[in-house]
Amino acid sequence: MAKQEDLFKTIVAHAKEYGFVFQSSEIYDGLSAVYDYGQNGVELKNNIKRYWWEAMTMLHDNIVGIDSAIFMHPTIWKASGHVDAFNDPLIDNKDSKKRYRADVLIEEELAKFDDKADKEVAKARKRFGESFDEKLFRETNPKVAELSKKKEELHKRFSDAMNANDLNELRQIILDYEIVDPISGTRNWTDVRQFNLMFKTEMGSTADGAMDVYLRPETAQGIFVNYLNVQKTGRMRIPFGIAQIGKAFRNEIVARQFIFRMREFEQMEMQFFVRPGEELKWFQKWKETRMKWHKTLGLGDEKYRFHDHDKLAHYANAATDIEFQMPFGFKEVEGIHSRTNFDLGQHEKFSGKKIQYFDPELNESYVPYVIETSIGVDRMFLSVFCSCYEEQMLEGGEKRVVLHFPAPLAPVKCAVLPLVKKDGLPEKAKEIQQKLRFDFTCQIDEKDSIGKRYRRQDAIGTPYCITVDHQSLEDNTVTLRHRDSMEQQRVNIDDLESILAEKVSINSLLRKLVE
Ligand code: ATP
Repeated sequence: MAKQEDLFKTIVAHAKEYGFVFQSSEIYDGLSAVYDYGQNGVELKNNIKRYWWEAMTMLHDNIVGIDSAIFMHPTIWKASGHVDAFNDPLIDNKDSKKRYRADVLIEEELAKFDDKADKEVAKARKRFGESFDEKLFRETNPKVAELSKKKEELHKRFSDAMNANDLNELRQIILDYEIVDPISGTRNWTDVRQFNLMFKTEMGSTADGAMDVYLRPETAQGIFVNYLNVQKTGRMRIPFGIAQIGKAFRNEIVARQFIFRMREFEQMEMQFFVRPGEELKWFQKWKETRMKWHKTLGLGDEKYRFHDHDKLAHYANAATDIEFQMPFGFKEVEGIHSRTNFDLGQHEKFSGKKIQYFDPELNESYVPYVIETSIGVDRMFLSVFCSCYEEQMLEGGEKRVVLHFPAPLAPVKCAVLPLVKKDGLPEKAKEIQQKLRFDFTCQIDEKDSIGKRYRRQDAIGTPYCITVDHQSLEDNTVTLRHRDSMEQQRVNIDDLESILAEKVSINSLLRKLVE
């Protein structure tokens, strides 16, 4: 674990050093759990958003986008249940004075059973070598069976407590399992209390009577309250979806793990409106579609898994998370929820407006059911960043740090490097860059040795370096260096655009999605 923690620290430092992510307000000592994206970070983030947006709105004839305001009428949050129920169960350690989410402490305890079982499997694999049958071992080994039984016991107690909102029982579990504060190492815990996560502010001048408003904790409600507008003006027929990318705000108490848990973050959400009774079929369909979107990036299929919810949110009748293997374990990146007709039904009730769909095939009106896919841009960024980071030892003892970004997501697609800063090579390089810049983020770099320039581009994940040498002036060719293999290929300058387009465009990913 310590190794993984060190690796994570190195990755965070790299993100800062190479202009991906900065602490917000750093010169004022920072603002906790708020981050800014730098010159390379913003490009990576925009590419992730583009991949999602185009996959949703361009590859589905029945999905359209909107961009709703962050401020909304406060009654919306009453109707959605967020004012009353958007809480986290918190517990304080009296010695360290640190506050934790009780549910997260218990989930971490649960994960320890898996870790122990994995260790047993790893030991056995070493022992048996080639002939090792993992499935059989997991089914028959008494130690693994015992761990799985113990995990199941805790799991049941935990989900019962969460479902019953039993805060005393959550505390009791923490005591019974002797969970200690990672900082103080003690078990001196307070009671568990609920804490609302919404930020509140005032709108309008006090003289006119200011109104309390909230910074939205999710983008979804902006879609629900525009359901009728979009359905009518877009003449949408069920099933159809509305997609949105935008900021969300949560007063997270336990803000740890860099951009994994932020107080201001960005969500990409899609609400898919369906006939009542068909929601579980669509839930299944969206689980598959979303997993394919993730896996198409090629970060490694084994890094993803589904995690079904133990405690369903107040609005859901089925829910799962897509988890990704971060350096600190498998963690939620995306939630897929079957939200029933709860939200539209509540808005009908609170607004007094009829929010229904007349289904011409059934010849009846109903409040549509909703499947939601909700992914955090920042968590997606973190999963891409962490899984692409590699420190490689090269022949001759040299080391390089390389970010193996999927080429369509890379902040800089290509860098044009004149071999020397004379003999007309910089001019030729400029000419190439001026041509490519209409289609690709394309840098020009003349400083330092060619080796150093390659390292700089590797460290920000540039998939292609184009080197201009003396031969380029004679026969209009350059070398194209591939980031991952470091292979160099001689190509004609006139072919660069088409070679790059095929590899680095978002289209190349979108095509794979429909294969
Ligand atoms: P968690 O259990 O980790 O707090 P959640 O289940 O509350 O997350 P959802 O409400 O389902 O999260 O939000 C959908 C997505 O929004 C999450 O899958 C995650 O990617 C992202 N997200 C939620 N909270 C944060 C946060 N504080 N910082 C960054 N991303 C977040």
